[in-house]
Amino acid sequence: GALPARDAAHPAPALSFEFFPPRTEALETQLWNCIRRLEPLAPRFVSVTYGAGGTTQERTHATVSRIVTDTTLTPAAHLTCVGATRDEVDEVARRYWDAGVRHIVALRGDVPGGGAYAPHPQGYAYAAELVAGLKRVADFEISVAAYPETHPAAASAEADLDNLKRKLDAGASRAITQFFFETETYLRYLDRCLAAGITAPIVPGIMPVSNFAQAAKFSALNGASVPAWLGHLFEGTEDDPETRRMVAAVVAAEQVRLLQANGVDEFHFYTLNRPDLTFAIAHILGVRAVGAK
Ligand code: FAD
Repeated sequence: GALPARDAAHPAPALSFEFFPPRTEALETQLWNCIRRLEPLAPRFVSVTYGAGGTTQERTHATVSRIVTDTTLTPAAHLTCVGATRDEVDEVARRYWDAGVRHIVALRGDVPGGGAYAPHPQGYAYAAELVAGLKRVADFEISVAAYPETHPAAASAEADLDNLKRKLDAGASRAITQFFFETETYLRYLDRCLAAGITAPIVPGIMPVSNFAQAAKFSALNGASVPAWLGHLFEGTEDDPETRRMVAAVVAAEQVRLLQANGVDEFHFYTLNRPDLTFAIAHILGVRAVGAK
């Protein structure tokens, strides 16, 4: 159906954008072009991921610090506890606080290269413990991860929901979901969160798909299911980038419009450091660049 005009009674949604820290100079240029392109959309915050097992610690810190000093944006730093002592994690957090960073996306993280997770003997064992530890370091705003299709290692969907509740009770004020492609999956999850007494925002994590093969690979790693219809939509566009871009825009636009029609007014975008699809979808959601008409 048609969306209402954006006006005082129907404000544009709140957005956040996720980036990964660059590994090379070329990727750094790409990241900063992306940040500059999205900056006028005035997102609520932008977040920078922390590589598996903290492998990007310095690059994440450098990127987040530059966002503080060089842009109008409010950064959030991802931080994981896998493979680190509590003291090491607290030190990273203290450095962020001293650099003016007030928002942490607190995660357990995965074992680099895959394999079964085991807590560090002197570490925070799970994200809920990390959240509590961060709150002892400073009064950070904290976001945590949520899984509409259940985290792959959870004992059960109920246990995973209990875990989300523990993270929020420990001091997180928002959850951001793993990406998903079926809107129903997310809406049913919201219902289950509400039934469990969770009132904090559960912000949908949106991954605009421009490369289906890559999305399918990510999904396999993250336990997100890829519906057959999505594969069919991209089928035959492998050597046709123009059509692929148009299909990608339609798929992403339909997803966010359906969410918006169901009352969702906050969105987190996994940009993969590419601005075009995210910018177009934000536009479709009613967001306009500051200073633009
Ligand atoms: P937790 O909340 O600790 O949960 C992990 C698993 O343990 C779940 O199955 C849970 O049910 C279970 N569990 C929790 N507590 C207990 C307990 N006491 N006993 C037994 N089981 C328990 N990874 C990165 O490396 N860097 C990033 O920057 C990053 N950013 C992310 C951003 C978002 C929005 C999301 C959704 C994920 C991100 N990840 C990132 C991936 C994340 O690190 C993995 O999904 C990881 O496997 C789980 O992290 P978590 O914080 O959800 O863990």
